[in-house]
Amino acid sequence: MSTENNLQNLYNGAIKILTDLIAFKTISGENNSPLIDYCDKILNSLGAESFRTYDDEKKRVNLFSTLKAKNENEKKPIILSGHTDVVPVSKGWSADPFVATIKDDKLYGRGSCDMKGFIACVLAYAPIFSNSNLDRDIHFSFTFDEETACLGAPILISELKKRGINNGICIIGEPTNMKIIDSHKGCYEYTTYFEGLAGHSSEPHKGVSAVEYASRYVNKLIELRQKLKEREPKDSIFDPPYSTLQIGGIFGGIAHNVIADKCHINWETRPVVKEDGIFLNSEIDKYANEILLPEMKKIFPNSSINKEIIGEVIGFDREKDSKACEFVSNITGDNSREVVSFGTEAGLFQEIGISTVVCGPGSIQQAHKIDEFIELNEIKKCLKFLEGVKNKSIN
Ligand SMILES: [Zn+2]
Repeated sequence: MSTENNLQNLYNGAIKILTDLIAFKTISGENNSPLIDYCDKILNSLGAESFRTYDDEKKRVNLFSTLKAKNENEKKPIILSGHTDVVPVSKGWSADPFVATIKDDKLYGRGSCDMKGFIACVLAYAPIFSNSNLDRDIHFSFTFDEETACLGAPILISELKKRGINNGICIIGEPTNMKIIDSHKGCYEYTTYFEGLAGHSSEPHKGVSAVEYASRYVNKLIELRQKLKEREPKDSIFDPPYSTLQIGGIFGGIAHNVIADKCHINWETRPVVKEDGIFLNSEIDKYANEILLPEMKKIFPNSSINKEIIGEVIGFDREKDSKACEFVSNITGDNSREVVSFGTEAGLFQEIGISTVVCGPGSIQQAHKIDEFIELNEIKKCLKFLEGVKNKSIN
């Protein structure tokens, strides 16, 4: 068969798989095991060995599957990684978001670009990997709940660490139009809860106003925001170049004349370096526990301040000589490196020593939107890229 025919078959296969994948309603937080079973079945039939890791309720699943090298020769493995969850759909779609539809060289559907398109490509390509004389392991990593602060990936990562899979190259196929992304800021979200003592407004000294203590906490955060600016690293590649902090909401109180016993604050920070996240947390915790809380407890011993971590997506740091970026550049011929403002699982893989790059089909412009789509040409580009991965993985 000619190469062109091969590519056409591959492409048809990828479209078929993508259509199937979109039909699984894997909105973050929901059961994704039917989709995982589907992927596992394909890989299993090709001789891959896999294992699963789960959330506490065993409702949501990560799959890690391996096509073993046929010739062992010290070559570091490749991990092809994607998240299986999609963001919820809002009203206004032109067609059913969970039925793939092709129109004007685009394939529409929730998750088409973010990021089932990539998963479809790697699954469509897997039979070729399996039939090749691989001289390195090719891993497939499919996680749950990336869109809600990367909840699934850390569970997988700690298992990888246990199994000694802590080197090699990881390619995360988030939609980048097949461009290389080699860094992004972290994204940490918190809710801090204050509980004081209700009372009549005419006797503020007898109550503990949760709203007032929360306000002081907010002021402290804003003060620390200035400190973060002053900590701006030299040669920062980000815009803005320093770690940011933002208060998303303050909720508390029931009436003008009632001392509020409850209040909570939603806030987030985007650290440019991990140290900033540590600095900020230790400063604000110290202020809460050593200044605010003792004052509150003096009046009402059961007062409390609790900071809940909603999610801490760690940053993805630019490596000077990134093996992963070199690997991808070698295939695509594109030596550019870009920074993005969205978070990914990249920092988690990087943290255990795996050289990581974000590069995948489709555009982030279409992600999370009504009528999400992927340009069909992007699927072709990704399949061609995988051909390159294979050529670098055979002897
Ligand atoms: Zn994504």
